[in-house]
Amino acid sequence: MSLIIQKFGGTSVATPEARKSVRHKIEEAVERGDTVVVTVSAMGRNGAPYATDTLLGLADNDKDPIMKSNMDLLMSCGEIISAVTLAEELKKDGYETTVLTGGQAGIITNDDFGDARIIDFRPENMKKYIKEGKLVIVTGFQGMTEDGRVTTLGRGGSDTSASALGVALDADMVEIYTDVEGIMTADPGVVPDARILDFVTYDEVCNLATQGAKVIHPRAVELAKTKNIPLRVASTFSDARGTIIKERDDSMRERLITGITALSGIVQLYIKNEVGDQKRFSELLVDIADEGISLDFINICPREAVFTVKEEDSDRAQEIIRESGFPYSVVGDCCKVSEVGANIQGVPGVMAKIMTALTKEGIEVLQTSDSYTTIWCLIRNKDKDKAVRTLHALFKEEENKTEG
Ligand code: ADP
Ligand code: MG
Repeated sequence: MSLIIQKFGGTSVATPEARKSVRHKIEEAVERGDTVVVTVSAMGRNGAPYATDTLLGLADNDKDPIMKSNMDLLMSCGEIISAVTLAEELKKDGYETTVLTGGQAGIITNDDFGDARIIDFRPENMKKYIKEGKLVIVTGFQGMTEDGRVTTLGRGGSDTSASALGVALDADMVEIYTDVEGIMTADPGVVPDARILDFVTYDEVCNLATQGAKVIHPRAVELAKTKNIPLRVASTFSDARGTIIKERDDSMRERLITGITALSGIVQLYIKNEVGDQKRFSELLVDIADEGISLDFINICPREAVFTVKEEDSDRAQEIIRESGFPYSVVGDCCKVSEVGANIQGVPGVMAKIMTALTKEGIEVLQTSDSYTTIWCLIRNKDKDKAVRTLHALFKEEENKTEG
């Protein structure tokens, strides 16, 4: 008998039909003899009546920004609605259910409203209900401060809730159910022939998730990793076994490429340092850092430097650069494409191959960077999907060669 956490995402709880599949997954686990704790997201995606964005739209945020704590209280309603709806349906199936908010389930966070971090787990309440034989359903995406205020865990935060419950209850497995059959070599919405990965390491998935693959929240992966709890990402709507995320072991085949992913909302800044004043340039970097702006794709040469910032930091970064007096230019609306794979460095002439493939497609490469597990290319956002498809095809070809 195992203790498992099952998390169901927005599309999985959106309609009575979809929730039928959810109930089926829960039933399968209960019939196996497992103890199940369920956590759910708000119903549907943007535009759906109770989706998080729709709820946010109820407050006129433009003229008079809504108080952050109220915003979290408002956003947390979506998960309450889906948890209660599912609980009532499960009651009809014969289950005794208990719905708990994140706070009632013992997820304690700091007061960074909108993107709160978990600081403690207090699962006693939950354990009590489990012991009574109740099927506990926890509203995803939320926690509570020490002084009892409702917080939310940031976009994709229900994944984090699932891992938090897993850690708090020392679960045997955390299952993330969604609308795709697992973690794939690329977003299947962009690359139709993307392949499902059977096994991936925590680190590989974290790498993909922080670089734009929104299939699972990176914080959920980090959290599960702290207690070495395996995660399964699978579809609510099929019986496919999905992707298992765990530490590397012998069962994992070394592969060339784990995945290709892309992240938009990046601005490239190009600074001229005509007299090579390294001291003044260093001071500029300190000023930018002091503003809490983090830089990426940093490349510093004696007479010029180039780096990227997130779109939301771009205006402030440019203000600081203007104050410093260095001439600079900007390329807005960029996108970072990441090729993640532990053996990527083993491909002879890998950068040459990437450049050749992108050039052939007429995609301008603005900058590149690499580590021993990842190669990053900065391109224009308009080329994003084409670049992901091109590089996915390239690595598929390379992988076939190494296997053949
Ligand atoms: P949920 O609402 O269930 O949390 P999300 O929309 O957050 O679902 O995540 C699932 C989506 O992630 C898929 O529909 C898919 O389009 C997208 N996605 C992006 N990258 C990948 C990837 N590498 N593998 C699988 N899905 C991906
Ligand atoms: Mg999600």
